Amino acid sequence: MNEVKTPKKPILFYYGIALLVLMLFNFWLMPRIVQMQVKEVDYGTFMSMIEEEKIGRVEIQNNKIIFTDKEDSMIYKTGLMNDPELTMRLYQSGAKFASEIIEPTSPLLSFLLSWILPLLIFFGIGQYMTKRMMKNMGGGNSMMFNMGKSNAKVYVKSSDGIKFSDVAGEDEAKENLTEIVEYLHNPGKYKEIGASMPKGILLVGPPGTGKTMLAKAVAGEANVPFFSMSGSEFVEMFVGMGASKVRDLFKQAKEKAPCIVFIDEIDAIGKKRDGQVGGNDEREQTLNQLLTEMDGFEGNNGVIILAATNRPESLDPALLRPGRFDRRVPVELPDLKGREEILKVHAKKIKVGQDVDFTKIARMASGASGAELANIVNEAALRAVRDGRSYATQADLEESIEVVIAGYQKKNAILTDKEKLIVSYHEIGHALVAAKQTHSAPVQKITIVPRTSGALGYTMQVEEGNHYLMTKEEIENKIATFTGGRAAEEVVFGSVTTGASNDIEQATRLARAMITRYGMSDDFDMVAMETVSNQYLGGDTSLACSAQMQAKIDEQVIELVKSQHEKAVQILLDNRSKLDELANFLYERETITGEEFMGILESS
Ligand code: ADP
Repeated sequence: MNEVKTPKKPILFYYGIALLVLMLFNFWLMPRIVQMQVKEVDYGTFMSMIEEEKIGRVEIQNNKIIFTDKEDSMIYKTGLMNDPELTMRLYQSGAKFASEIIEPTSPLLSFLLSWILPLLIFFGIGQYMTKRMMKNMGGGNSMMFNMGKSNAKVYVKSSDGIKFSDVAGEDEAKENLTEIVEYLHNPGKYKEIGASMPKGILLVGPPGTGKTMLAKAVAGEANVPFFSMSGSEFVEMFVGMGASKVRDLFKQAKEKAPCIVFIDEIDAIGKKRDGQVGGNDEREQTLNQLLTEMDGFEGNNGVIILAATNRPESLDPALLRPGRFDRRVPVELPDLKGREEILKVHAKKIKVGQDVDFTKIARMASGASGAELANIVNEAALRAVRDGRSYATQADLEESIEVVIAGYQKKNAILTDKEKLIVSYHEIGHALVAAKQTHSAPVQKITIVPRTSGALGYTMQVEEGNHYLMTKEEIENKIATFTGGRAAEEVVFGSVTTGASNDIEQATRLARAMITRYGMSDDFDMVAMETVSNQYLGGDTSLACSAQMQAKIDEQVIELVKSQHEKAVQILLDNRSKLDELANFLYERETITGEEFMGILESS
């Protein structure tokens, strides 16, 4: 789909050019004009002209001599030499001593050049800019009014637009949106029966899962114009401007109907109005205008609004009621099959070798979003070019997963041997505790090459498959696994390092969730102590209980993590020899695969 845009150069660009011309004129051209009449000659010519008594007027300056011929028809210039009798000889040759042979530019001329000319240039630019602006706005308006224009990006129909086939996975979302496409193709079928299309559809999901792509694909499939604008673009400095932008957007859309209007990051304007004093007036007015516009048009006029957000819980309920954004399409992180399809879609754009096993890559990239997968494929292609190959291999893709998720390998990071050993024990500690609890390979691979993200090691977990429920025991085991790294340090070295900060955070979060949200504590039964406020962006929570309860929760969280930590230490003590063997293997080779790990663990 082609975006229609009028190329615009900033005002500064024109003023920059004017300034440049002026400087060129004053510092380069002007001195040259003055110099043009002066002819430079060597000192010998000057001396012979004295002897031949051809000098008219002469002026001796600090570093040069200016003189004219007898007829005063030409001005000459020559360098100054150490010639003590020069004045005498000049006098004898009948030359007249003068000052200011080259007359300074007349005051009138210099006034014209330094004041009138710049003014004329700036005036000219002003005129030109005004004309251009008028043309852009279709005439009539002044610059001020342009602020209320929507300046949405408009994409026109084109045969190479994005189609549903470009969006891999996300079958449910596509199925949901196919109805819209159908409607745009054949509205009559729907009108006949009296059905009206939803006016607004909200695409919700974590970042990078293809929400924008899906919206474009709907327009591409339906072959209708696509207006795209981000929520934050509506919010202006002046109250009322955003509302005016919304009005303008809908006016344009109605003219082009049937069409799709896409508002990205709608939470920027659609946030709950909380009625606090000193609230954001501009945002609220914009939202009100959006609500009014959505009410103002009939469901059947062919304007369909798609909006994307990753914070659906923060949206104003008025926006979500039937008749506005009444349909919600979840666009979730892709599952194994989805990841494989996304990898394949993007791999079509690059050259890949025969050996590439997309299922394996998809399995390794567990939890990656569509955007990350696209990035992984691109990184693999870049790596292939860097190594001088003409196509990307399996190894390129595997390495790029680690690059995208954990950052580049730090080639010159200096880990002391002791640190490397600690990291080995730490990582094996996690894996060993996990393996002993589940009796299966817990990891695909562990490497202890430092990454640019700051991670000293990298553990690729085994894909857990589509797993929707977790038992209490499973969560407890997970907490024990998180504590396994620190436990290994304690068991082996008797002291602890800062390396476990992330584990501590994750273990605490899980333990907290068990107690406050999953009802897994005997004391609180099925009472929610916390609510999730931010499902798609990290899952932040807010407490919903009294201060006494909070203290109790904290106690229980500590108790829970502590008991799992002790369990992990016990597991490692019971398997001390395996722990040493595995950690040494990792220390020597810097990488251990899941199979090697299980091989060593199960050997007697
Ligand atoms: P969002 O709007 O959800 O943040 P985008 O639609 O902008 O995400 O996706 C960003 C990029 O990620 C796309 O340009 C595309 O290359 C890739 N991508 C994301 N999801 C998919 C998918 N399901 N299929 C193919 N590519 C995808």
